[in-house]
Amino acid sequence: MIYDLVIIGAGPAGLTAGVYASTRKLNTLIIDAMGAGGQLASLYPEKGIDNYPGYVMTDAGQLANHLVNHARSMGCELHEGERAIEIQDKSGHLMVVTDKASYETKAVIIATGMGLFKPKRIGCPGEKEFEGRGVYYKLPDRETLKDKKVMFVGGGNSALEMALLVCDQAETCLVHRRNTYRADEAIVEKVSDSNIEQILSSQVVEIKGTDHVTSVVLDINGKVEERPIDAIVINIGTASEALDMEGWGVELEEGLIKVDTDMCTSRRGVFACGDVVAYKGKYKQIVVACGEAAIASNSAYKYIKEPYWAK
Ligand code: NAP
Repeated sequence: MIYDLVIIGAGPAGLTAGVYASTRKLNTLIIDAMGAGGQLASLYPEKGIDNYPGYVMTDAGQLANHLVNHARSMGCELHEGERAIEIQDKSGHLMVVTDKASYETKAVIIATGMGLFKPKRIGCPGEKEFEGRGVYYKLPDRETLKDKKVMFVGGGNSALEMALLVCDQAETCLVHRRNTYRADEAIVEKVSDSNIEQILSSQVVEIKGTDHVTSVVLDINGKVEERPIDAIVINIGTASEALDMEGWGVELEEGLIKVDTDMCTSRRGVFACGDVVAYKGKYKQIVVACGEAAIASNSAYKYIKEPYWAK
């Protein structure tokens, strides 16, 4: 069997690409190394989302469910727990090779999001040693943080939103290296209105503990201070692992996939969308990923079917 389209990644971008491909009756397979829903489902399902049009407020898990149900109900085939490894050429078509099988297809959309990216590390003593034992890069089960002292690090939307998620049940502080944030003003305002202690112009110098983290040494505006804590959640961005992307055979730009305004990559028949792509003006938002997915799907359709109106 030859698919019209194989989509790698079942986050908001991949699922939306699937919905649009289905309206064009493209025979579509979506593959995800984890479960469908992407970061929405895996990173923070209970996080509130207030900037997805049409919903004044929803939560990430609910939005993920809607997107998955939408793609399925439109007829997309969905394989979860299957890791795509490379895209090969196959007699005029492409072949997506996974850890379970190979799928011949006319076109591919890469929508792997930040799935192949690793969280950025601070690089201070104790960070590696206590990873998983008080040092986290994803929010651990909130129940385990109840009534604990929890430190969040970072000045972007992720760090501030994570801190807001636990501040009602844990003694929460936020450490940022500048005296101003890069997070959205609305989120900064929520932090200011909350009980989160903000420690600005500060760097984490060392993480200490025995079996588990017990304290963090901070450089607060040049003054060194040790603070007792039970957990530190680090959200200082992601580092690209270009090696993981080699299998796609597409041109990269600083570890991300280079696309033009049609979401075409440097390789014929391969398109990309969502957090994995780079272009001037890129804005990492769910709604933008979904918009790019519609474009990628339309470009794949034009490539596969060559309709008269696209000539
Ligand atoms: P981010 O926006 O890149 O922010 C990373 C933060 O970590 C920055 O404040 C940065 O400080 C700090 N940082 C970086 N390296 C550091 C180091 N070595 N030591 C200490 N601090 C360091 O990352 P993000 O928050 O994960 O967000 C990623 C993207 O997803 C962004 O575009 C964001 O807007 C988007 N996002 C959006 C939402 C939403 O719309 N609700 C939610 C989550 C994420 P500086 O500011 O000093 O550089």
